[in-house]
Amino acid sequence: MPKRKIVRIDEEKCNGCGLCVTPCAEGAIQIVDGKARVLREELCDGAGFCLPLCPQGALSLEEREAPAFDAQAAAVAAAQRPAGTEITCFKCGTGEQSSALIPVRIKGESLWVCTHCLPQLIHG
Ligand code: SF4
Repeated sequence: MPKRKIVRIDEEKCNGCGLCVTPCAEGAIQIVDGKARVLREELCDGAGFCLPLCPQGALSLEEREAPAFDAQAAAVAAAQRPAGTEITCFKCGTGEQSSALIPVRIKGESLWVCTHCLPQLIHG
């Protein structure tokens, strides 16, 4: 099995809040028995978009042996995400299908902001 970058979850730090589940567009992360787990490693692309959303610092990227990323399976999983779990901009509500969204940390919260609203955050 080849080595590649993939998400690592520190079980000691994870409190099972679930904030990392929805942002994982590929659906690789699920909560099992109160802890986040990468259930299907082939769905994790190792991009690390979930990392800044974890309030516990439980997520990191590591290089290890893992099944190759399966883009086709990830696209199928993304298309099957339940209604109402689309990621939206916390300021204007624009969804990920309409605009590029960027994870931000504000006052201890992990949020998503669209590229239209981001300048307002930077410049006030
Ligand atoms: S965001 Fe962090 S603490 Fe919350 S479930 Fe995911 S890994 Fe665990």
